[in-house]
Amino acid sequence: MEDCIFCQIVAGKIPCFKIYEDDSFLAFLDINPWVEGHTLVIPKKHYRWVWDMPEEEVGRYFQVVSKVANHYRKVLGEEFVMSWIYGEIPHAHIHLFPAARGKIAFYPKEKRPSLSPEEGKRLAKKLMLK
Ligand SMILES: [Zn+2]
Repeated sequence: MEDCIFCQIVAGKIPCFKIYEDDSFLAFLDINPWVEGHTLVIPKKHYRWVWDMPEEEVGRYFQVVSKVANHYRKVLGEEFVMSWIYGEIPHAHIHLFPAARGKIAFYPKEKRPSLSPEEGKRLAKKLMLK
């Protein structure tokens, strides 16, 4: 979809700090993170909701989400990775919030930082899944 921000990211028209990519899915850092390492995992094909995806694709989608979440557990040495499916951007996406259990401290809405290019590069390098 032309006016969809995530489709434009998939098409490379809007840059992102990429964490993982395969032929069907993309994971990248949220540019207005709620916690450090806040990541979005999306299907490259446009679906409004996660639950609009065909069942066979949902299975692969969750395998990718699992792969990224387990990679974060390993890289960050933290067991707990909170995940969230909400839908405020009209393209299916799953949020991953790497954080220690009981220590989730979302940045307050008015204090959410924009991800600077330097911080994005640093985090993407640290968290990238090859
Ligand atoms: Zn889209």
